[in-house]
Amino acid sequence: METLANTISVGEKPEGYEGAGFFATRLDKVVGLARKNSIWPLPFATSCCGIEFMATMGAHYDLARFGSERLSFSPRQADLLMVMGTIAKKMGPVLKQVYEQMAEPRWVLSVGACASSGGIFDTYSVLQGIDRIIPVDVYVPGCPPRPEQIIDGVMKIQHLVETESLRRRDSAEYKALLNKYGIE
Ligand code: SF4
Repeated sequence: METLANTISVGEKPEGYEGAGFFATRLDKVVGLARKNSIWPLPFATSCCGIEFMATMGAHYDLARFGSERLSFSPRQADLLMVMGTIAKKMGPVLKQVYEQMAEPRWVLSVGACASSGGIFDTYSVLQGIDRIIPVDVYVPGCPPRPEQIIDGVMKIQHLVETESLRRRDSAEYKALLNKYGIE
């Protein structure tokens, strides 16, 4: 009979050396493992894609399984900015300010066609993709994307988080990327 105890799986340990009473590995692998399984998302939801996100947080899809049940409505305590919905040009500066208030390391997930490209709203008032104002790490396609797709996007972010070099945020390439967006 299947019990709760035998449905729980433990995350894989990183590569390393082990012997009687010790295990040694690289610092970045341990940091990556911890960060990957404790991402705190900030949901920036403006329209219908936000409803799909609500389903993603519900008991059936349960983003808590990925260690991300703790949503942050303060950018200062968030690692992952999830942008879901149509972003009007007037809202662009607010979104950028939220991004700038997040501490490094921070990641951005663009959920749905509107956030990624303006979607069906090819009009003068709608931003044609949030990557015009902030850098994006992963795009989730769809109008709307299903919760499974949002989870897939979060898992792709988890992969980036786990494998990112500890020095990437200090690199000249990363600074050049931010400078392109006018961010210090
Ligand atoms: S991509 Fe589609 S579902 Fe998502 S906010 Fe835009 S119109 Fe709504």
